Amino acid sequence: MKLYNTLTRNVEELKPLHAPEVTVYTCGPTVYDYLHVGNWFTYVREDTLIRTLLASGFKPKWVMNITDVGHLVSDADDGEDKLEKGARREGKTAWDVAKFYTAYFEKGLERLNIVQPDHLPRATEHIAEQIELIKKLEEKGYTYTISDGVYYDTSKFPSYADLARLDLDEQEAGKRVQFNTEKRNVGDFALWKFSPADRKRDMEWDSPWTPPGAPEGSRKGFPGWHIECSAMSMKYLGETLDIHAGGIDHLPVHHTNEIAQSEAATGKQFSRHWMHSNHITIDGEKISKSLGNGITLEDIEAKGISLEAFRLHVLESHYRSQSKFSWDSLQAAQNRLKSWQAFADLRFQALNTDDYTGPDYMAYLGDVQRALHDDLNTPRALAIISGAEAGSVQEPITNGEIENFNAFLEYIDDVLGLRLLVSKDVDDEIKQLIAHREAARTAKDWAKSDELRDQLAKQGIGLRDTSHGAVWYRL
Ligand code: AMP
Ligand code: ZN
Repeated sequence: MKLYNTLTRNVEELKPLHAPEVTVYTCGPTVYDYLHVGNWFTYVREDTLIRTLLASGFKPKWVMNITDVGHLVSDADDGEDKLEKGARREGKTAWDVAKFYTAYFEKGLERLNIVQPDHLPRATEHIAEQIELIKKLEEKGYTYTISDGVYYDTSKFPSYADLARLDLDEQEAGKRVQFNTEKRNVGDFALWKFSPADRKRDMEWDSPWTPPGAPEGSRKGFPGWHIECSAMSMKYLGETLDIHAGGIDHLPVHHTNEIAQSEAATGKQFSRHWMHSNHITIDGEKISKSLGNGITLEDIEAKGISLEAFRLHVLESHYRSQSKFSWDSLQAAQNRLKSWQAFADLRFQALNTDDYTGPDYMAYLGDVQRALHDDLNTPRALAIISGAEAGSVQEPITNGEIENFNAFLEYIDDVLGLRLLVSKDVDDEIKQLIAHREAARTAKDWAKSDELRDQLAKQGIGLRDTSHGAVWYRL
């Protein structure tokens, strides 16, 4: 299986350290507000990676963190903690905000049919692990303490710019204006932040650190955002990951910092493979909470569009392309899904003969697999499935091919999670109506035939007449 690796900027064969196990860490949500479709695009794409690994005989071990403390409004380690901001907005504590949106997120994973990660660790439940890691960095001389926190000295880590191919000189020159003058280098980032001297935070903990000049133990604090991912990925998956994934916005700062912390602490490569999901735009702008253009899953359902249709819409673009969200394409995806559901319902309508001259569904399965193994090429996989669906209109499925047809559908559901196989066969009453209508048609009793067709339509069943008889589908 091949995947693009941001580290090398090449599509590479995936070679897990301990195959068939594949350790995967993905950066999860900051739980201070409802998630928008941009977030869910990223998670569905990561789910496609996991599903493809599973269907290919790998044993992915998947950890996705939940950021419930320490993610500041600005990437420059200042501004408010997003959780505290959410708490103020809602008149609740940061703890209550975290609890509410964590539950909302977990429900969303389930509703979108995203594979349950092996662990969904919360940052607030791993404070000790984060402190331990910072202590390790301190012992190795990578940290320094200033008035607002303990910082990582990026100049001590020579390959700091590698992953994102950053131009540090340019950064240094460009950011002077907003530069915290106590920091040694513009890219240095907080590992531990001190609570303000004059205000108690909802979430704060004791630590071995205090601001210079303050009495020891006099100030509580909280972890910087980046350290949680290093600490929790190491705890659950070991010091070297096979794949680390996340949104592309994390590349220049968050993932760059994760590597610096982890590799400085362990002396080992942090992740062998980096996968980045590109931005989703709406009306030409990135979807983001701050721009207020964040459509939610509830908004989609309110328009009568299913979450499976949303999933199909996500899969219509390649994860590395900058993709657009629009209501028109979502509606088109809903229509496409409907015809795929009718395609899947053909499994109940195989002709009772072993003769079969139609397409080979195992060959289609192989084609879809090859597309996914080629850097998760979901648009190509979808085109193959639509091709198979078009073929089925010409050539009926027969008992001779039904096993392969079912295997093909099962594979699609396994890798794409579209729930095509949840539908049931129509009941006997409907089957009888269909048979009566066929008889009326053969007898050229058109009035009766039309009446029966209307009766079926009222029960949500449509008919398509073919050379081998009527095929039913759900309206
Ligand atoms: P956040 O909660 O802001 O840290 O975002 C959670 C995840 O969603 C991260 O992996 C982000 O990269 C991703 N994300 C946020 N906005 C978008 C967007 N417009 N398109 C795609 N992914 C996004
Ligand atoms: Zn992370």
